[in-house]
Amino acid sequence: MAVGVLALQGSFNEHIAALKRLGVKGVEIRKPEQLHNVTSLIIPGGESTTMAKLAEYHNLFPALREFVKMGKPVWGTCAGLIFLADKAIGQKTGGQELVGGLDCTIHRNYFGSQIQSFEADILVPELASKEGGPETFRGVFIRAPAVLEVGPEVEVLAMYPVPSNKVLYSSPAVEIQEENTTPEKNVIVAVRQGNLLGTAFHPELTADSRWHSYFLKMANGVGQGASSSIIAVGGA
Ligand code: GLN
Repeated sequence: MAVGVLALQGSFNEHIAALKRLGVKGVEIRKPEQLHNVTSLIIPGGESTTMAKLAEYHNLFPALREFVKMGKPVWGTCAGLIFLADKAIGQKTGGQELVGGLDCTIHRNYFGSQIQSFEADILVPELASKEGGPETFRGVFIRAPAVLEVGPEVEVLAMYPVPSNKVLYSSPAVEIQEENTTPEKNVIVAVRQGNLLGTAFHPELTADSRWHSYFLKMANGVGQGASSSIIAVGGA
């Protein structure tokens, strides 16, 4: 099984290292024809506008969309999740090209700018039940997006209880504030739709390999669809 890692920009080396820890070779993908050599793909975190420009330059969008359409497993982390979304909002200027396929609307910079980056333990029952270990996963959120809406086919795998004074979505000027421990609302930070997986945070920047292992099982066809322990399924 060959796992491709889109290697235009961002944390592709970290994904390749995480795969290596699990004994799997990650294949760097920079050209459309290289996608023929892999059976699954990881789109890393980074900066989605830059990544989109590079993907356009290399004429990768048609091949990436075809890859998704064929039902091949694809996992997007952070900017990679933005790439997979059908709709993204929150761009500073205009729109950007997306691969799409994941029936959701995403806010590109929901949690604010670089200086609002944070780490938090995220409850992920699906991961714990399939991969063992604790019920939580340490989420590294760097200028992170969040999923605002999901379609009926999308399974919500993790939510983050946003502290009440940390709600940055739609605030024109982001202020730095002390974290408050009272959760105001839950936002979606990990989703799955069939063979598409998306996390708003960066498992590749942690030593915990459970998300990579979960994706490899998806890629191997083990466990079609998330099961009993999902948090919610999107609906109208
Ligand atoms: N919000 C960033 C973007 O729009 C993604 C950040 C990340 O991948 N760490 O591209």
